[in-house]
Amino acid sequence: MAKYDYDLFVIGAGSGGVRGARMAAATGARVGIAEAFRYGGTCVIRGCIPKKLLVYASHFHEDFEDAAGFGWQVPEARFDWPTLIANKDREIARLEGVYRRLLDGAGVEMHDGRAVLVDPHTVEVGGRRMTAGIILIATGGQPFIPDHPGIEHAITSNEAFHLSALPRRVAVAGGGYIAVEFAGIFNGLGSEVTQVYRGPRVLRGFDEDVRATVDAEMVKKGIAFKYNTVIDHVAKRPDGALDVALTDGSALEVDCLMLAIGRRPSTKGLGLEEAGVELGENGAVKVDAYSRTSQENVYAVGDVTDRINLTPVALAEAMAFVDTVFKGQPRAMDHDCVASAVFCQPPVAVVGLTEAEARERAERVEIYRSSFRPLKHTLSGRDEKAMMKLVVDAKSRRILGAHMVGPDAAEIIQGIAIAIKMGATKEQFDATVGIHPTAAEEFVTLREPVPEPEQQAAE
Ligand code: NDP
Repeated sequence: MAKYDYDLFVIGAGSGGVRGARMAAATGARVGIAEAFRYGGTCVIRGCIPKKLLVYASHFHEDFEDAAGFGWQVPEARFDWPTLIANKDREIARLEGVYRRLLDGAGVEMHDGRAVLVDPHTVEVGGRRMTAGIILIATGGQPFIPDHPGIEHAITSNEAFHLSALPRRVAVAGGGYIAVEFAGIFNGLGSEVTQVYRGPRVLRGFDEDVRATVDAEMVKKGIAFKYNTVIDHVAKRPDGALDVALTDGSALEVDCLMLAIGRRPSTKGLGLEEAGVELGENGAVKVDAYSRTSQENVYAVGDVTDRINLTPVALAEAMAFVDTVFKGQPRAMDHDCVASAVFCQPPVAVVGLTEAEARERAERVEIYRSSFRPLKHTLSGRDEKAMMKLVVDAKSRRILGAHMVGPDAAEIIQGIAIAIKMGATKEQFDATVGIHPTAAEEFVTLREPVPEPEQQAAE
């Protein structure tokens, strides 16, 4: 008789957990999974997917305006938030069903409820105890909520997807992925948006040219920025409006305050430490290169480990975990050169090193950059710039980084990422014939490096 009820028990049915469960089951393992909320996790239920649907919705506003330059007369467009939310909810429910069916089809037993570790081989879900040889923690993360007076009046991205009405005036706190994406969504749908960020410019950690372009384009779209300040306190008026006091002494009157100041790993109350699983300072599960925790039969993948918090990374970590544990092919996940996109408007996509990172690591770098008005806007008349940039190691000639702000950036950078991952050189990019007329062809036609800073200073 089997020693344990399951070979693998997965806690959390988000991207990483579902992939790990399905792939392990495909090897013949007996797998159970527990989910406290909805199958699909952050990405499907209240992250990437609904966010991108809202981004599409918000962009129509400009599409209708742009159509005029192409001869189209669009009658005055009206937007209905409840329709968008209802349609989005229907699609998310469909996807959740797909996830459940995938698990079911793979023979994974689903346990709806919150799982807690009782010991390294035992989990409890809704009062029922089950044992497993291997346990995979894939509980993801949740929005960080700071401790300010009145902060209970604020929402996070979780609630933003379910607002009953589109707020007329919105303050978005934060300068990272979620903050700029939602500032763009609310702005595009017609809200008056102010973004409050503690630094001097959004998207810290991204290439400076990307940051400057995003900032300039968001300002052109009418988003107001409050830089170098954070929320001090919030008060609600009898009419429901919020007074948001900032630490620089200024105040905002808004109808909605959305916090996007980072996320934290969901590890509280899971019984992890009691089961011998060590946590890092921010509550993330500590893992080695094979996603193994300090407890030898317990593994963790995805946002709960706070490595690179992206869905495709969680999926890849889960695949490496299954290869390692269930296929006898130990494989560490390669976190190098992971491309990512920010669906602000216009969108950003990047892969590899920023110029600043490259200058620290390489002896000499060459920078190629192009800033241009996309062809479409020659007729639409829209004052929107795209920016593309290559960071090259001057000695080895390898492309160290590619950065883009502009329409379809994510679609374009995905292909570029393959070349960079393969170690492509600038000359190989140059030898590639472009597809005309596209923005993407810029990446293979950048001929002149921009003068080095010392050269620029001398001119
Ligand atoms: P980020 O880590 O991207 O950004 C957090 C922002 O909040 C930063 O601007 C940060 O400032 C600021 N901040 C942090 N702490 C405080 C504080 N105490 N007071 C005021 N401001 C603060 O987090 P997000 O919540 O935007 O997103 C979480 C993660 O989810 C992302 O890092 C990304 O990995 C993932 N994600 C990916 C998306 C995509 O792929 N398109 C979309 C959405 C999320 P500072 O920069 O100064 O530290």
